[in-house]
Amino acid sequence: MVRTLRSAIEGGKVAHAYLFSGPRGSGKTSAAKIFARCMNCERGPTAEPDNTCAACVAMLEGTALDVLEIDAASNRGIDEIRSLRDAVKFPPSVMRKKIYIIDEAHMLTKEGANAFLKTLEEPPEHALFILATTEPERLPITILSRCQRYAFRRIAIPVMIERMREIAAAENIAVEESALAAIAYRADGGLRDALTMLEQAAAYGDGRVDAAAIESAFGSNGREMALRLRDDVLRRDAGAMLRTIEEASDAGIEPATLLRALLGAMRNLLVARIDPDLLARDSAPEDAAEATARAQEIESTTVLPLLRVLTDAATLARGGDARL
Ligand SMILES: [Zn+2]
Repeated sequence: MVRTLRSAIEGGKVAHAYLFSGPRGSGKTSAAKIFARCMNCERGPTAEPDNTCAACVAMLEGTALDVLEIDAASNRGIDEIRSLRDAVKFPPSVMRKKIYIIDEAHMLTKEGANAFLKTLEEPPEHALFILATTEPERLPITILSRCQRYAFRRIAIPVMIERMREIAAAENIAVEESALAAIAYRADGGLRDALTMLEQAAAYGDGRVDAAAIESAFGSNGREMALRLRDDVLRRDAGAMLRTIEEASDAGIEPATLLRALLGAMRNLLVARIDPDLLARDSAPEDAAEATARAQEIESTTVLPLLRVLTDAATLARGGDARL
């Protein structure tokens, strides 16, 4: 993605509209801001903005008049989109391009989307639109088809753990390995969320972070309980299952959370049987090892029906139609 954008910038082949899609915290908005500096740096357009010229500094400080960040989910954003059609006609005041970064683009109202579409159909030469969204499928096809699309990936657990470990070392935070894993799972692919949690937990624990502190600060995500429940299920011990569910409920774990965690634990067993390396690529090392060892003791044919039952239960819990 970086390579493609870089060669577009260097070759002067930048499109009018881009769509960056991907999960929360996968870097969409950060990338959009860097892209804006690439285009508007006084020494640009360049793939390596200097970050020191007046234009870069204004963009970094968020004071650049020619770079507008619009949150499509906010009331102000709705007004800004409405006025965009007229405003976009005026050339940039000081910079090379007038850049609109539209965050949460899937939240555009129907009216907003229509107004925006008119602009996208005949974009002025000086305008560049960068849409960021977690749910591209909710955008009208008429808008999608006019954007160059880039999909941002969620960041794998081991990568996230490694990054947090570096930051913890630099910031003198004493953090347990199990706490890093606990944060990484909670952040669900979003590095920004992970770093915020690490920072909060460090403040809470006075520079020390362990897994118990994470649980008490952010609530349980049910992983421990789900692993116990998984083993109860594999042993076909209904009494133990009920006791575990009861205990999880007493600990304040939402049934839906427990169900999701259990589904994840079962899926990991299946993946571990088929391709342990794949599991290791997106799990904390000790979890991958545990699931891989456990998977040796069971048959895929045991896990598949369980996954089906759990998936149906999850669908029902969301109020959808399961196959009954
Ligand atoms: Zn610059």
